[in-house]
Amino acid sequence: MQRPYNFSAGPAAIADEVLAQAAAEMLDWRDTSGRSSGMSVMEMSHRGKEFISIYEAAEAGLRELLAVPAHFRILFMQGGGLAENAIVPMNLSALRQRTASPGHADFVLTGSWSQKSHKEAARYCSTRVAASNAASGHTTLPAPATWTLAPDASYVHVCTNETIHGVEFHALPDLAELGCDAPLVIDFSSHVASRTVDWSRVGLAFAGAQKNLGPAGLTVVVVREDLIGHALPICPSAFDYKLVADNHSMYNTPPTYAIYIAGLVFAWLKRNGGIAAMEARNVAKARLLYDAIDASGLYENRVAVDCRSRMNVPFFLRDETRNGAFLAGAATRGLMALKGHKSVGGMRASIYNAMPIAGVEALVAYMREFEKTSA
Ligand code: PMP
Repeated sequence: MQRPYNFSAGPAAIADEVLAQAAAEMLDWRDTSGRSSGMSVMEMSHRGKEFISIYEAAEAGLRELLAVPAHFRILFMQGGGLAENAIVPMNLSALRQRTASPGHADFVLTGSWSQKSHKEAARYCSTRVAASNAASGHTTLPAPATWTLAPDASYVHVCTNETIHGVEFHALPDLAELGCDAPLVIDFSSHVASRTVDWSRVGLAFAGAQKNLGPAGLTVVVVREDLIGHALPICPSAFDYKLVADNHSMYNTPPTYAIYIAGLVFAWLKRNGGIAAMEARNVAKARLLYDAIDASGLYENRVAVDCRSRMNVPFFLRDETRNGAFLAGAATRGLMALKGHKSVGGMRASIYNAMPIAGVEALVAYMREFEKTSA
């Protein structure tokens, strides 16, 4: 069965192979030696040996894929990116304080998601804006050398791929080079596992799973060990990184089924060449789409070329009265979920790891055809 191409920003497409495996194992999950458990993963105790093996394989799979160094912990949490907007300041903002009282955090504002993070953090600690791209309508990225970083910041928050505005950091800022010794916190929700990460520049990274890692309900946090254990007294126990880490993400019941599916996604990524192969494929997909947009008289992408996202490609029709016809024609060709975010309008194609090149080719072919017929 040929399924439609799903360009949703998240929850997003998952590879057919992964879904087929989950379907085959739905009623009876088997271990690596083929021994039947007689249960669906959904029905298993998170403390039983079957689920523990699924959990350990998922964690090891992610560590290997992302080349996460040993001095970082991987936490499987819940609450999504938005919960981390509160959980991070509750855990990190006291880093520089003598007592467990909130300190300061710096924010680089580059679009909706970093703005949301900033607003939420301000409920728990004092915040400052180190840089912003608001003047360009979130179509550029402020060069790190221009950031005004506070010497007493407990951490610096950056959203490394803005899902709505389609701007992406293609290199992580090197805070040490900027004379800043605060840890860098990255929200990499919408480009996690699409490219390699230079962990020497990162203190903590978080991502909701529902774009590139699997289903909604799982939040991945990768955190350097020395940043664990500084939670404010108001931090809910279930969100205290120390309790989560000490209990191997089982302080409370983890999202077991989402972890299982994510583990299947990690295995699928590995079988397909890992992150390096995905990154090469993502570069090729993005080039195909941006080239088609730039070569056309109808479509337009407003983001500066050097910071265009490889994952989320917003574009506009110069004749906006054609938007409805464009989307309707796309749907009849099995090209789904192309409508742009309501805050920016237009179109958006999210082309995460599970989107094959053939899907982008089909989109580009349709865009050309639509442009010709509407000329
Ligand atoms: N950060 C980014 C970059 C996102 O794209 C999103 C969701 N689209 C979020 C945070 C919020 O994630 P969640 O809905 O899982 O809380």
